[in-house]
Amino acid sequence: MVSNQFEHDLKESVRSIPDYPKPGIIFRDITTLLGNPRAFRRAVDELVQPWAGSKIDKVAGIEARGFIIGGAVAHQVSAGFVPIRKKGKLPHKRVSIAYSLEYGLDEMEMHEDAVSNGDRVVLVDDLIATGGTAEGAVKLIRQMGAQVLAACFIIDLPDLGGAEKLRKLDVPVRTLISFEGH
Ligand code: AMP
Repeated sequence: MVSNQFEHDLKESVRSIPDYPKPGIIFRDITTLLGNPRAFRRAVDELVQPWAGSKIDKVAGIEARGFIIGGAVAHQVSAGFVPIRKKGKLPHKRVSIAYSLEYGLDEMEMHEDAVSNGDRVVLVDDLIATGGTAEGAVKLIRQMGAQVLAACFIIDLPDLGGAEKLRKLDVPVRTLISFEGH
């Protein structure tokens, strides 16, 4: 658990934009958190705190905000960084998986040599909503024989059930703050 004061400060550092990108959605903009030195550092430190003493081989970040947070986390725990990208962006041999979006399907990819059999991987993104994106990333990592040690997100939207979905896949989930609704 993170302290109430930290949770309050972190929530204050996130900018909420109603009706973006479409009516009814409140966009949780983390650029204000990233621009706040204290909030950014604390968020990175707290995200992986439960696994601080564990061996972590790789941190996998989901495009695009997961790259910023995941890169900082990888540095913090002295692990390698693995980008999980939208289809068609990675130049070398790839593995890919279809994942569900609110409307329809998309594909994400990872280099096939980015993780190895038995690697201990922590997955990072800024926010978990329905969990469709993170579920796809978990399957991609597991497909290569690596273990997903944990999935870490700064923000949880619990009403959308994503964290629960990952826990059902036996993935320990760490989130720092949550917002009601979409
Ligand atoms: P999901 O697959 O539904 O869990 O959606 C997670 C992905 O969509 C993450 O990469 C988030 O950055 C983005 N996302 C979903 N909902 C929001 C929101 N309300 N505000 C900001 N980003 C969001």
